[in-house]
Amino acid sequence: MNKALANMPALSQPATIQIDGSQGEGGGQILRTALALSMITGQAFELMNIRAGRKKPGLMRQHLVCVQASQHISQAYVEGAELHSQRLYFVPQHVQSGKYQFQIGSAGSTTLVLQTLLPALLLQNEASELTISGGTHNPLAPTADFIEHCFLLVLAKIGIESEFQLNKAGFFPIGAGEIQIKIQPWQHRNKLCLLERGNLQSTEAFAAVLNLAEEAQIAQRELATLEKRLKLDTQQHFHLKGISQGNTLYVKVKLEHHTQVFTSLGEMRKSAEQIANHLAQHVKQYMESNAAVDEYLADQILLPLALGQGGEFTAQCISEHTRTQASMIEKFIDCEIEFIELNENLFQIKVNVES
Ligand code: ATP
Repeated sequence: MNKALANMPALSQPATIQIDGSQGEGGGQILRTALALSMITGQAFELMNIRAGRKKPGLMRQHLVCVQASQHISQAYVEGAELHSQRLYFVPQHVQSGKYQFQIGSAGSTTLVLQTLLPALLLQNEASELTISGGTHNPLAPTADFIEHCFLLVLAKIGIESEFQLNKAGFFPIGAGEIQIKIQPWQHRNKLCLLERGNLQSTEAFAAVLNLAEEAQIAQRELATLEKRLKLDTQQHFHLKGISQGNTLYVKVKLEHHTQVFTSLGEMRKSAEQIANHLAQHVKQYMESNAAVDEYLADQILLPLALGQGGEFTAQCISEHTRTQASMIEKFIDCEIEFIELNENLFQIKVNVES
């Protein structure tokens, strides 16, 4: 046991929350949410069966960096912080704002590390600055573009101020990308009301290719395919810096009350047209529903809402990630998250907090 804990009178040590990592989604999100909420509430947790639902269970590099970074900013006492560990015991102390730099050392997702640390840092009295290196455009995780142009915009609506920068892009397997963010203390906590998305203002497409042969042709073919499938207002071949190789494209749908971003990554043995068609399909499904928020943003904004004034929004669907996230949040803080099915493609999510 660390010195500070050993000196703490037993009664002042908060009860340990027991978490089964195999519940619901059974993935890394359970760990990240537990870390974030533990740092915020000061409650210790013991997480068993970490990522039991995955092919390679236990802590992978990205998850381990989430643990180490959380330990660092909250001077936590930790057991089980090793690669492939399936048990973690985490006892936070005081979260310290400041200027931090974390390296994943692989192409693990920098944005998921960011989402672990952001909630605790924005609740401090001083600003913080984070620089995280690793992957910035990973499959099955928010890309840096999604964070910058979609996630942080919703956070700004509820009063969270930040400045985000993609310094270098990082694709699998090399990674070596870098994101940087300045986080201001959260002063004016607004309730979110995002039931109606409002009228369509514009649909914009963006494509970038890093260190691959035929860079310009790939991006142009992707943009041309998107143009055929969607009514685009603008399209842009943008440039990325970095040493890894990869291709990413995204569509930004600007509506009166919300901006939704859809992203896609180039894959070996898939043509530029296939990648763009797949992305266009997602955008079309969204346009056909009346929901404000897509599947992914829904699970990502639950925690910030629960820490502020709560609110309500409509979503295209309720994923297993979203349900698992809701039950994790309810374990640590006094709030109630409700899901109401309005029709097959439209759900209302209410985050009710004690005021
Ligand atoms: P594991 O390997 O255990 O599945 P992980 O730690 O990589 O896990 P998950 O627990 O699956 O991650 O969580 C992934 C997160 O990435 C979720 O919050 C999800 O909303 C987000 N995400 C996945 N795909 C996208 C996408 N295309 N756009 C935006 N966000 C995404």
